[in-house]
Amino acid sequence: MSTGPIPERVDHRKLANQAGLIEGTLPIQCFHRFGEMLVVSEGDVYLRLEFSKGDFGSTRVNGSAATEVCLICQNCMQQFRRQVSCDVALQVVSDESKLERLSEVDDAIVAPDKVISVAELVEDELILAMPMIPRHEEGQCLETDYEQQEIVLQEVPEVQEVQEVQETQTTYRPFADLAKTIDKQNT
Ligand SMILES: [Zn+2]
Repeated sequence: MSTGPIPERVDHRKLANQAGLIEGTLPIQCFHRFGEMLVVSEGDVYLRLEFSKGDFGSTRVNGSAATEVCLICQNCMQQFRRQVSCDVALQVVSDESKLERLSEVDDAIVAPDKVISVAELVEDELILAMPMIPRHEEGQCLETDYEQQEIVLQEVPEVQEVQEVQETQTTYRPFADLAKTIDKQNT
């Protein structure tokens, strides 16, 4: 991660035509919704994004994003730091009518303008990569006399139905449907 800052906004069509690569860091402050989920929205997000020509004149973006965030452990209520990373694979289309022609496996962003925000390309994926219930790794909490199950139920009562999944899987995608809704609203 020795590369420097990258522009907040880029011309995605130009990058696609050049098969361009952007690699470097953006401040977490550029990621407004993601930043709101954090105790401290300081630091950088490291990005590596490859641009290429996609289907029907769209831009294909493939790459990854990674950062370290500060969260509150829901077992011991102490702050801890955690790596969050995600892969990015999407197409940028100029209008909504093109969405239906894309393969369903592709995520898509509608952007009429050729200049787009780099943060917006990866923000949904970063949010989805956040742990639903932030917790230290097992045995890493500062205090050991908590009753884990009780605290979890008090803090997030609505997740009881997925309790079984949480035991083995520390992250899931609580905003998957929300992200789709937001995408539609933004079109
Ligand atoms: Zn803890």
